[in-house]
Amino acid sequence: MAPVVYPTTNLTATEQMCLERGEGIYVFDDKGNKYIEGLAGLWCTSLGYDNKEVIAAITDQLNTLPFSHTFGGKTHQPLIDLAEKLAAMVPVDDAYIFFGNSGSDANDSHYKMLRYYFNAIGKPEKRKIITRERGYHGVTVAAGSLTSLPANLAHFDAPVEALSILRTDAPHYYTGRKGNETEAQFVDRILQNLEDQILAEDPDTIAAMIMEPITGASGVIVPPEGYYEKLQALLRKHGILVWADEVITGFGRTGADFGCTTMGIKPDLMTFAKQLSSAYFPISASVIPGWMYKEMVAPSNEVGVFGHGYTYSGHPAACAAALKTLEIYERDNLFGHAAEVGDYLQAELRRIFTDHPLVGEVRGKGLIAALELVSNKTTGATIAGGKGGAVAVKACQDNGVILRAVAGNALAFCPPLIITKPEIDDMLTRVKTALDTSYESLKA
Ligand code: PLP
Repeated sequence: MAPVVYPTTNLTATEQMCLERGEGIYVFDDKGNKYIEGLAGLWCTSLGYDNKEVIAAITDQLNTLPFSHTFGGKTHQPLIDLAEKLAAMVPVDDAYIFFGNSGSDANDSHYKMLRYYFNAIGKPEKRKIITRERGYHGVTVAAGSLTSLPANLAHFDAPVEALSILRTDAPHYYTGRKGNETEAQFVDRILQNLEDQILAEDPDTIAAMIMEPITGASGVIVPPEGYYEKLQALLRKHGILVWADEVITGFGRTGADFGCTTMGIKPDLMTFAKQLSSAYFPISASVIPGWMYKEMVAPSNEVGVFGHGYTYSGHPAACAAALKTLEIYERDNLFGHAAEVGDYLQAELRRIFTDHPLVGEVRGKGLIAALELVSNKTTGATIAGGKGGAVAVKACQDNGVILRAVAGNALAFCPPLIITKPEIDDMLTRVKTALDTSYESLKA
């Protein structure tokens, strides 16, 4: 029978993988097959699939106060506690936090907040946002327009022009370099392009640049050494705010608390979701600095209140899930664990796959990584039709590992933070078998 869920898929219900339960880093389908969840669901199930403490925190909260909201002077304790905890963790000075339900809406909230803020301080012309090619920021109207993947832009007439969104180069040396350009030359060239664009647009019309510290869904791109230092200097020189989208990289994923820490970014604005609650309950957070908040509530602000918020902003059960998740990260030193097993994952990926005939590049940091699949290792020729990732994902699945194809020919890894070294060994042995068996169908 055709599935009645939406958006559509060409697969029938029986052809799709129907998951029934989870345990640790594993999930089980309705046919009894066991899989390593090598992508932590959708880059989110950091604590794995059976964390009883988070489940208890949610059910206790549902039994106590299943709903409260944040309008008209209302608040509740889990919201206050979570806001204080998160504000103390993030590398934003004197942080203020708005809670939502998804990474997309966190980015939409910031998009609106920036317009509101610059209106409030009498600079309504400062409203353009720079985003990068191959950036992924979600699918709602503003976040979908900030996303640069064709599938998220095509067919929708996303109002990019009306939303004043500017695109700049993706910082991916492997696919973006020209001729014999070195990494340093590549960085200088793409940042010169950006500065030319900023000057052509007029810096006073540009509010912020959004960036994933390590780009996730469009290929796991780790920018070259020096890129962020120079990028931030350029943005500061022109008075453009640095907005870090940490929806994937937040909370241990890169082997540190935040992707910003790993990549040396000092953000003005941040957005979070996914691992904030280890995906046990939907919640997102949009973080602004105190100096911005103060302008929003200043008596001189004639614009009025920031008319924004969701029914489920700061849902008590979501806050309880996030609070418990953050407590476990800290108590169990999970960021330290992620750093250690992340180094191991990166080293093993390079040891096993650097010389594999299908692999053109091994990249990543901490517990996020990708293999760029090529049809000819010597020439680096890409796999026609971008089908490499999909073929490899299917072969991995047949070998008991769930991974994800990103940017067509890349195979992405993002296992739960709780993964152990023996589990990494098991996963990579299976992936190696899968790639060996995919070789004949993918080679040029
Ligand atoms: N931002 C980034 C960096 C993401 O990777 C994603 C989702 O993968 C989003 C935003 C959107 O999050 P959501 O799917 O929760 O709306």
